[in-house]
Amino acid sequence: GLYRSEFLFLDKDLPTEESQLCQYKKVIDFFNPYPVTIRTLDYGGDKIHEFMKTHREMNPFLGCRSIRFSLKNQGIFKTQLRAILRASAFGNVKMMFPMISTVEELLQARDITSEMMHELDTSGIPYDKNIEIGIMIEVPSAVIAGDILAEYVDFFSVGTNDLVQYILAVDRVNEKVADLYNPLDISVLRYLRTISEIASSHSKPISICGEIAGEPKFTMMLLGLGFRQLSMSSKNMYQVKRIIRSVNIQECESLSRSLLQMKRSDEIEKAVIENMYQKFPEILI
Ligand code: PEP
Ligand code: MG
Repeated sequence: GLYRSEFLFLDKDLPTEESQLCQYKKVIDFFNPYPVTIRTLDYGGDKIHEFMKTHREMNPFLGCRSIRFSLKNQGIFKTQLRAILRASAFGNVKMMFPMISTVEELLQARDITSEMMHELDTSGIPYDKNIEIGIMIEVPSAVIAGDILAEYVDFFSVGTNDLVQYILAVDRVNEKVADLYNPLDISVLRYLRTISEIASSHSKPISICGEIAGEPKFTMMLLGLGFRQLSMSSKNMYQVKRIIRSVNIQECESLSRSLLQMKRSDEIEKAVIENMYQKFPEILI
C-alpha cells in the first residue's frame, strides 16, 4: 500500500517531527509485521495546503510540486525525513519519494536522507539503517531513465494517476479534457510495459498504484504487463483479489500481448471489456 503523508499537512501550522512520528507510529503498529510504505510530502498540483495558500502557479502540475517542493523547502523535508527514519525503528517501514523526474533529484533526496541518518547516529537515536528507499514513477522521464534510477533505489512504485496525465499531457483535474485522459492509450501501455521490464531486468520490486490499480477491468492487463503488487483502497480489494485468484499468468500475458498490438484506444478498451465479460460477467464494470 501507499501511505500518503499529505493529510498531516492540512493545517495552517506545519506538523512537528514529534507529531509526525506519533502518527507514523500508529500506522506502523497497526500493520506490524507487514510493511508500511510512507511517501514523503506530495504537496502541490491539485493538493494545495493551508500552510502554502498564497503559493499559486500558472501550471501547478508542471511547477514546484511534490519532491521539487521538498527539495526547495528543505526545512520541511528534513523534519519529515527525521520523523520517518525514527518511525522505522518501530516496525517495517519503507520510504518513497514522489514524482522523481531526474537522476539529480533522486541523488539530492538521497543525500539529504543520508545527512539526516548521520544526525540521528550522532545523537544516538535509533532507526532502521537498512530502510528501503524507493521512488514513484509518475513522469515519462523516469520511465525512460528507469535503468539509471534503478541503480539508486530499492524499489519502484508506478503512480498511474500522474503518469497518464504526463504521458498524454492531459491535466487530470480539468473537466474540459477529461475525455482525453485515457489509461488505455497505447502509449500508456507501452510505458507500463517498459518500466515493468526495466524493474525486472534490474531485479527491483515494482508495484502499481493510482486508480487503475484498483479497477477490476484492468487487473488482467496489469498482471500480463508484469505487475505483481497492486496497491488500492480496501473497497476494491475484494473484486480484484477474486480476479487474481481465478486467472493464470499465461492468459494475462496473452491478453496484454494482444493489446500491445493494437493501435486505437477504443479497440483496446473493447478488447479489455470483452475479455472481462467472457471471464467475469458478474463483475460490474
Ligand atoms: C498517482 O499519481 O497515481 C498517485 C498514486 O499519487 P496521487 O494520486 O496521490 O498523486
Ligand atoms: Mg501522484
